[in-house]
Amino acid sequence: MQPLDSERYSRQIRFQPLGSAGQTRLAMGRVVVVGCGALGSVVAMALVRAGVGHLRIIDRDVPELSNLPRQVLFDEADVAAGIPKAAAAKQHLQRINAAATVEAIVADLSATTAENLLMGADVIVDGTDNFEARFIINDFSCRDRVPWIYGGAIGAEGRVLTVLPGQTACLRCLIPEPPAAGVMPTCETAGIIGPAALVVGAVESAEAIKVLSGITAGLGNRLFICDLWAGVWRTIDLSALAAEGCPTCRGNDFPWLEGRISGQTAVICGRAAVQVSPARNEAIDLIGLATRLKTIGIVTANPWLVRVEVEPGIQLSVFADGRAIVSGTREEAKARAIIARYLGA
Ligand SMILES: [Zn+2]
Repeated sequence: MQPLDSERYSRQIRFQPLGSAGQTRLAMGRVVVVGCGALGSVVAMALVRAGVGHLRIIDRDVPELSNLPRQVLFDEADVAAGIPKAAAAKQHLQRINAAATVEAIVADLSATTAENLLMGADVIVDGTDNFEARFIINDFSCRDRVPWIYGGAIGAEGRVLTVLPGQTACLRCLIPEPPAAGVMPTCETAGIIGPAALVVGAVESAEAIKVLSGITAGLGNRLFICDLWAGVWRTIDLSALAAEGCPTCRGNDFPWLEGRISGQTAVICGRAAVQVSPARNEAIDLIGLATRLKTIGIVTANPWLVRVEVEPGIQLSVFADGRAIVSGTREEAKARAIIARYLGA
């Protein structure tokens, strides 16, 4: 636990519902932020500034120029250097608050990785861009009784739901089945304005601070919805859904966490790129791979990934945990073909 710096946090401590007891709890708190894009950036920054003692940031991607309008933790230098978002976020966060412990994990949340990645959290905050990850988090949360905060932003709209397992409605109570691929708008198809992500990230951060400080009265069972363009802010009461429950929060059914429902390839929201996850998670010898790929073109290599342009406009990035991202295409079949051609997998 970091020592309580009462001068630094004096204005928060003066806020009566928090006080010094609440601030001490924040310093002892352990938060896992899954996904460090638009929402995760805001959440990680707000919580580190608020004095949360331990933050684990999980992200599978690298920052791109088109991220900068809303992903507040990154800058042009991060894009140029090709540093993964989790690692770049950690660098920025430690400059904001050197006393915070920040773990940067460059990995994809899946049924196989969830146990390790989510373990030990007091609260999990959603910064992901897909429902598979959210349903894995919801399963884990309900099984291990760890509160989590769901958040989403698209266009000018946002929504947030805090789940206190065993007490409130969970994500599956609200959405019985995740929407099929291509059915829902994404930030790729519908676009997004930065302020929508800032608002949703801010609401998620406030919810996390309440959970960590132990002020849970009135939390949960309210879906927060906003539309910044229409100027609409409201909450929907979910008490009736909570009373009924669902197979996950009432029946101990955890199909996503147990890998009975999973996907191996995913088009990445917000960019022309496809991620291909290996069947088994195995560490990759990046140095050896970088050497082999040098015959194809100019290789960018750092401790987290190896990247090479395999054909004009198509880049292949291979991460240390065995994942690959093919950017420059949205076609999963093409991505798989490129992986097969260059990685023999
Ligand atoms: Zn439920």
